[in-house]
Order: sequence, then C-alpha cells, then structure tokens
Amino acid sequence: MRAPIRRVLALTARHRLMLAASVLLGALAIGAAIGLMATSGYLISRAALHPPILSLGVAIVGVRFFGVSRAVLRYLERLASHDATLRVIGTLRVRLFARLEPLVPAELGSLRVGDVLSRFVGDVDVLQGLMLRGLLPPAVALATSLLALAVAAAVSPIAALVLASALLLAGLAVPALARAASRAPAARLAAARAHLQAELVESLAAAPELVAFGASGAAVERIERADTQVARLERRHALVTAAGEASVTVLSGLAVVAVVVAAAQSLRSGELSGPLLGMLALLALASFEAVRPLPAAAQQRELGAAAARRVFELCDREPSVRDPGQPVTRSGPGRVRLEGVSCRYGPDAPWALESVDLELAPGEVVALVGPSGSGKSTLADLLVRFRDPDRGRITLDGVDLRELAQADVRRAIGLDGQSSHLFPTSIRENLRIARPGASDGELTDALRRAHVAQFVEQLPDGLDSEVGEEGELVSGGQRQRLALARALLADVKLLVLDEPTASLDEPTADRLVADLVAAARSAGVGLLLITHRAREAELADRIVALPASL
Ligand code: ADP
Repeated sequence: MRAPIRRVLALTARHRLMLAASVLLGALAIGAAIGLMATSGYLISRAALHPPILSLGVAIVGVRFFGVSRAVLRYLERLASHDATLRVIGTLRVRLFARLEPLVPAELGSLRVGDVLSRFVGDVDVLQGLMLRGLLPPAVALATSLLALAVAAAVSPIAALVLASALLLAGLAVPALARAASRAPAARLAAARAHLQAELVESLAAAPELVAFGASGAAVERIERADTQVARLERRHALVTAAGEASVTVLSGLAVVAVVVAAAQSLRSGELSGPLLGMLALLALASFEAVRPLPAAAQQRELGAAAARRVFELCDREPSVRDPGQPVTRSGPGRVRLEGVSCRYGPDAPWALESVDLELAPGEVVALVGPSGSGKSTLADLLVRFRDPDRGRITLDGVDLRELAQADVRRAIGLDGQSSHLFPTSIRENLRIARPGASDGELTDALRRAHVAQFVEQLPDGLDSEVGEEGELVSGGQRQRLALARALLADVKLLVLDEPTASLDEPTADRLVADLVAAARSAGVGLLLITHRAREAELADRIVALPASL
C-alpha cells in the first residue's frame, strides 16, 4: 500500500473496532442482497414447476428475511462507517490545525492562502472519501465474494470456478486498469483544485482594487482557465469511472451466461435441479454487487494518496520557532534587551537587521523609526517570537526568549500590526480573543483606556454590535482603537505597535497616538511604537532609529 495511505490508516487506530464492524455489516448487507437474489431465483424457478405451496415455505421466508435484513444491515453499516470515518477525519483536522499554528507566519509564507485552505478543507474531504469509498469497499468485496463462492461451490464446483475467474477479473484487473488510468490525473487534480481555490480567494480579497483598476476581466479569465483545467481533469476521472462500471456490468452478464453454461452439464446429468440452476444464475449476478464499486474505489485511492501527500506535506513542515524542552518560568517587570541581534530571511539573503542593540525599560514608551525596509517589522516579529534571530539574542527579564514557552513570551509582549484584524463577529467576541471569559466591566475598562468606550456605548447594540467582514462596519481609526483595547486587555508588559496609523488621516492619527501613549502610560505598559511620522515619534520618551538597509 502507498505510504501516504498507510499514514491515514495509522490515524484510524482508535476506531479499528468500529471500522471492522462496518466492514462486517457491509459484508452482511451484501450477503443478504445475494441471499435475496439467490432465494428469489430458486423460488421463481421452483414455482414455475407448480409444486405444493407448502414446499415453497422455506424459500418464501428466506426471501422475506433477506429482503428486510438487507435494508436494516445497510442502514447500520452506513451508520458505523460514517461514524468511524468522521471521527478519524475530525482527529486529522485537529492535528493538522495544531501543526499549522506554529508554522504561522514564518513557514507558511511560501504557500498561497487558497492552497492552505484547499489542503485543510478539500484535501481532508477527499480523505473522507478515501476511507468510505476507497478502503472499506475492497474489504467488504473480499468477504462477500468468498461467501458467494462458498455457496456456489456447494451447489456446483465448476460454476464456482467460473464465477471466481469473473470476480477476479472484475475485482482486480478492472480496478488495476482504472487505477493506472487515474494516477496522473489524480495528482494533477489536487493541484488544479488548489490553484483554482487560490485564484478565487485572492481575487475575492482584491475585488475592490480589481474593479477600481478595471482589471476584473483578467482575474475572471484566470479563474475561468483554472476552472476549465479542473473540469477537464474531473471529466477524465468520470470517464474512467464510467468505463470501469460498464466493464463490470458487461463482465457480470458474461459471468451469468458462463455459470449457466458450466452448470448445464450437471443439470443434464441430473446432479443439479432446475431451481438450483436458477438460484446459481441469480447468485452469480448478485455477487457482482460487491465488486461493482471496486474500480471507483481504486480511483478513490489514487485521489486519496494525492490528497494525503499534500496534507502530510503541510503537517511535516518543521516550525523554525519551537518551544524548548524545559521552558524556563519567568518573572519580573518586563525588561526587554536586544543584544547584537541580526536576522535575515534565508541563508543567502541580505541582513534585514544587523547587530541591533536595544534596551526597553519596563513602562517606557519608545518610538522606533527608520526608512522603509530598515527592518522595523522584522524587529517586531522577533519580539513576539514569530521568528528567532540568526545571531545575538533577545532577553525578557534576563531570560533568552528561546528558553521561554512561546505562549509565555506572547503573554508578556503583545503585537498589533498595521491593519489589525477584526473577526466578523461582535465587539465583545473580538475583544475576548485577548482574554477569554473577560467580564463586560473588564471589556469596558479596556475600551475606555483605548478612548473608544463612548463610541461603543453609542452603538445601538453596544458590545454586541457586529464589526463586519475585516471590521468594515467601523472606521479605520475606531478599528485601530478596538485593536488597542484588545491588546490592553491581554495585560502585556510591552506592547509593540507596528505603524498603527498607517492607513489613517493625519488628525485622526495624531489623536490616536496621543491616546495610545496616554493609555500605555496610565496602565504602566511599555510601548514600542513603530512609526515613520516625526510628530508621533516626538510623543515617546525616547526615539530609536534603525539605519537604512544596505
Ligand atoms: P520595515 O518594516 O522597516 O519596512 P521590514 O522588516 O518589513 O522593514 O523588512 C526588512 C527587510 O527584510 C526588507 O529588505 C524586506 O524586503 C525583507 N523582508 C521582510 N519580510 C520578508 C519576508 N517575509 N521574506 C523575505 N524578505 C523579507
């Protein structure tokens, strides 16, 4: 079995019993279907001979039993297989998310957002199909084929031999061909779907700009091209599925004829009765019910292998920032020091920051200025351990950040970026990200310190007011203030604000920064204000300038 599929199977360990039950129930359901056809065949042939009605009693009861039990067993099988599969997929999603989190933001930079989304949603869904339609049907088919062959062998060994050959052809040869025909398109289909998703996500995010610059036509064309590619590959996949199913149907018809011909000799010699021949013919036909999904199952395994490879590729990425084995516990007022810190985005890339020494005293308000590209945002990322320095070290109350748990660092040092993200939910829920379970009193206090409490009070729904997608229902200035309230609520020792006024007009920016500095001072929180506006920098206790990069 392919390595990525083995890894998916390894995830099923805790649900093996349920999966085994679903295979058993599936085999019994198809067994009942075969039983129904076989006893019906027997009953119809026997009845044609006008025997006394009582002699048909057992067959009639058999038809009823198999008819009812088939439906019940099929229902139970669906319940068991879906229950187990959804649990496995749930575990996988949780694990994937847990692996994804430490990769943000440094290691995900090389992937398009739509691609990550496609792996997280689409590819994981394909793995659900892999379990249900790719891996369970072969196990069920094996069990039911053996059962049907055992019954056939008891009636006519030669007929059983013929049936076995036909089942092997339909259950092994046709799926092998379907699989070979699907291998290349399956891998390309996963990539094409990811590409389409990435184009869609990016075009939707940039829709206003695309419309404003009259560039939406080109974006639509790119989406159409990506969509055509997906449709072409899906059509190819469907063609193989159809050819596989048609082949199995033809084989099942041929098998019935061959079984009847093979058993006819025994009928002539009197070893086999007419009704048993009728039973044998319908048994042969019904036994194909289990192998009919196998060509599609083989394709599903190809799709599953491609999806699993993409999912595990994401899982296997090593985060460059990791928690130490034995994190040190820190205490202190929140004194931060950078000692000879250098950082770059790749072994051959130029230094984004070179030999920076800086000390931030607890409660101090420092403005960090420097031309664009001088490494200000990189320094902000280093302070919250989104990255680690390549040389030098950063200490918090004397402890190297690398010796602390990341969560501990981020409890002490908070970062608020240029365009703070607000989630499309209420103001209350947006604030509570920083402190889950915070009371309304605590929320209002933080809003007051960020000078936005009055604005929230005036809203018809107060704290329950929705901020809209990306906070579009509130102005840029209010958005920054809400983000600041959130940062203050987190109770950090040092707050790093990366150009909080970048998208604001000058009067709004001036008021915001003055309020920010006042709020930080009154809360005793240190502030590192990254800015390129001289007026804002002058409000700080101290100005630190980064030199232009070479
Ligand atoms: P500033 O915030 O002062 O404008 P940055 O810290 O954003 O500066 O960037 C410093 C340098 O690092 C620049 O040369 C920039 O091109 C580079 N850089 C920033 N982010 C990345 C990244 N994710 N990958 C590669 N290079 C980057």
